[in-house]
Amino acid sequence: KQRELEEIRDLPARTLDGCTVSLLANIGLLSDLRVAHLHGAEGVGLYRTEFPFMTRSSFPTRQVQAVVYRKVLEGFPGLPVNIRTLDIGGDKELSYFPHPREDNPFLGWRSMRLSLDREEILREQLAAVLIASVGGRCNLMFPMISGVDEVRRIKGILEQVKEDLLREGKAFAPDIGLGVMVELPAAVLGAEMLVKEVDYLSIGTNDLIQYTLACDRNNPLVRKWYDPYHPAVLHSIKKVADAATAAGKPASLCGEMAGEPINALLLMGLGLRSFSLSAPSIPRVKEAVRRITLEKAQLVAERVLAMESAQSIRSFLEATQRELG
Ligand code: PEP
Ligand code: MG
Repeated sequence: KQRELEEIRDLPARTLDGCTVSLLANIGLLSDLRVAHLHGAEGVGLYRTEFPFMTRSSFPTRQVQAVVYRKVLEGFPGLPVNIRTLDIGGDKELSYFPHPREDNPFLGWRSMRLSLDREEILREQLAAVLIASVGGRCNLMFPMISGVDEVRRIKGILEQVKEDLLREGKAFAPDIGLGVMVELPAAVLGAEMLVKEVDYLSIGTNDLIQYTLACDRNNPLVRKWYDPYHPAVLHSIKKVADAATAAGKPASLCGEMAGEPINALLLMGLGLRSFSLSAPSIPRVKEAVRRITLEKAQLVAERVLAMESAQSIRSFLEATQRELG
């Protein structure tokens, strides 16, 4: 097992007809960095910053945050590290930040909405990321975005924070890329507008499936309705990939969905070239990518997009998987 892992670790995720995809890791804890390297991650596609907040008993200061972020950046020198701003609320709470009771927490005060309403939390985090940014190739990613108004407001705040740091004589990387997570149907429908505001899009299918199908991602009673193969989900992904391509900017996908080899094939066929996944899934996905052609992936995607039923799509993909061996 270890030998197999080592053999594939340094090989590119390239199809038989020469199309290369990037396979990056989703991480939360600093210990995930080692796991990511072990499995051949080509950077961090999603660093969930909730963890340094959840493991403390009060809000970490910008200095404390900067130390953690810098460690993540230094964990992948020269490779992209996408730091996502705080994504609490919904099912993630901080013990020291009492959250109001909400009837619909996932439709409520969570993620970017909370960060924007408690602007000092966002400012401190942006300052921390900027201070850490000199330690590597840093990108900043914003979760739960519904439209350009939020993005413009965040960019305004980021500019102010940069000015403050410059005044204090603090250095930061001049080329931090900005990305929007596409997790809401509104962001899918507005993808063409959103992509103009930023450098890249990153599709968060865990939430996108939940919101597209109005189906709580943690509720076992509705598990069977939470379906990545629902045509609405797949057409959404296609639309986002097309919007990014038309704008000449990259789109990646960082939901759990990318961890299944057959899904990676389908997603490549839909036009995506970059995935971020739980690190232990990287070798299996890479192996699958190396055994197919882009042409085949595109044929599969074309067939799938023409299907109207999630069940038919699932059966077709299972059959394709068997055929590929
Ligand atoms: C997602 O929603 O797909 C995602 C990657 O973010 P999280 O799972 O942290 O909500
Ligand atoms: Mg999400």
